[in-house]
Amino acid sequence: MQTHIDALTELLGADQLLTGSDISERYQVDWSKEAPHMPEFVVRPRNTADVSTFLRYCSEHKLPVVPQGGLTGLAGGATPRDGEIALSLERLNGITELDKQSMTMTVKAGTPLQVIQQAAEAEGLRLPVDLGARGSCQIGGNVSTNAGGNQVLSFGMTRALVLGLEAVQADGTIVPAYNKMLKNNAGYDLKQLFIGSEGTLGIVTEVVLRLFPLARNKHTAVVALDSFESVVKLLNTTQSKFARLSAFEAMWNSFFQCSVGANPNLSDPFDEQYPFYVLLESENDALDQFQQVLFDELEAGNVLDAVIAQSGKDSDQFWAIRDSIPEVMSTIPQPYANFDVGLPVSQMEDFLDKVQSSLSERFENVESLTFGHLGDGNIHILAWTTHEDNSQAIYKHVYQLLNEFGGTVTAEHGIGYMKADYLKLCRSPEEIALMRVLKQAMDPNNILNPGRVLS
Ligand SMILES: Cc1cc2nc3c(=O)[nH]c(=O)nc-3n(C[C@H](O)[C@H](O)[C@H](O)COP(=O)(O)OP(=O)(O)OC[C@H]3O[C@@H](n4cnc5c(N)ncnc54)[C@H](O)[C@@H]3O)c2cc1C
Repeated sequence: MQTHIDALTELLGADQLLTGSDISERYQVDWSKEAPHMPEFVVRPRNTADVSTFLRYCSEHKLPVVPQGGLTGLAGGATPRDGEIALSLERLNGITELDKQSMTMTVKAGTPLQVIQQAAEAEGLRLPVDLGARGSCQIGGNVSTNAGGNQVLSFGMTRALVLGLEAVQADGTIVPAYNKMLKNNAGYDLKQLFIGSEGTLGIVTEVVLRLFPLARNKHTAVVALDSFESVVKLLNTTQSKFARLSAFEAMWNSFFQCSVGANPNLSDPFDEQYPFYVLLESENDALDQFQQVLFDELEAGNVLDAVIAQSGKDSDQFWAIRDSIPEVMSTIPQPYANFDVGLPVSQMEDFLDKVQSSLSERFENVESLTFGHLGDGNIHILAWTTHEDNSQAIYKHVYQLLNEFGGTVTAEHGIGYMKADYLKLCRSPEEIALMRVLKQAMDPNNILNPGRVLS
């Protein structure tokens, strides 16, 4: 490896490489916390040309590379494996252009999501991608995982907000696929190859994002309900009655109480506990209309109680209950199985009932917390047993059940390394074969994130 370090130091300059004890823990594991591993060394290019030079060298010498953004991924995709060199995009940071008339923003891949959100808002615009990791994740990571988050219901996943991008292929070829237009049907839409492919087909170095006007107003409420059926009814009602239902986040009581308990800055907005809670947000409705819809639901008995945010501070508090995932995770025993499953809303209740009953039958002392972006058909389950590590057996068990329901093992976090063996449960053999054809064509030496997505 020393020969490669010397050669790359010569090609890129010493300030772009981190070696030995200069490699902090940050570069050794992503948020999945699965199997931390020291990379051979870390390369931190300052521009696209340097990314290209680095990849050309790695291709020629068949050196495996793990791309790293903000390392908030939950599928082990950015965690180094044996013999891999980490390619950190953190220095490709900054806004290249904000075009107010076209409502687009061009940003470098290493720019944190929150910086982009704030820059758009300062111009009266918004990027409707939002997730709990907003302060640490980078737009390149969001694009590479096709991140979901809290506003998918109205604006779609990250893919829907990417108009164009620049990527670097495994052999160092730079692909400028910049596009600022909403409509461009000229040939294949090549940017899609790099969106959601988790760094296995190329490195995203710059992104053209679609912006929207800021909402005229926003109303937030936390609602308490007694059954999953009522939760789904509320989803359908609010989708049809609100001008724009921008978030519909479901929390089971055990998650809600754990989140409130784990975070000393939070308090339960209700005086008693309920089986289910929904955090919902509407945009562009008059307050009267928002209140009336919730009042009608209360009158009809579908909703048991509701608290409407009276200020931005209240709304932040409500969101903090949903977003306190790091605090929740710190209170449960490690390791736990962390699910990000997707399935049609109409099948969710049966699936979740089956998960609960069969986990209890199969494992002793099993516990779980459930929450998620229910409006998107996306549920997160954290499950563990208290006396020993059964996380791998729990994954296998639940994924097999999911397969019977035709669901997906990942609605938003991606396959990464951790779910590569389960890809076949939710993609057909023909789809996987075509994925392999693309991988072979674009990365014949298999240097880009080997073992992720395709095992
Ligand atoms: C508290 C918390 C809340 C979260 N909430 C959500 C949520 O609501 N929705 C959701 O979808 N995710 C969520 N996540 C997961 C995570 O934040 C997203 O997957 C995010 O998009 C990852 O971005 P990142 O920059 O941290 O990428 P990383 O973790 O660094 O990398 C993710 C993957 O992309 C690859 N990669 C990174 N950058 C590039 C690049 N420039 N070019 C090519 N490949 C690259 C990596 O190799 C890896 O495979 C959450 C995570 C946390 C910790």
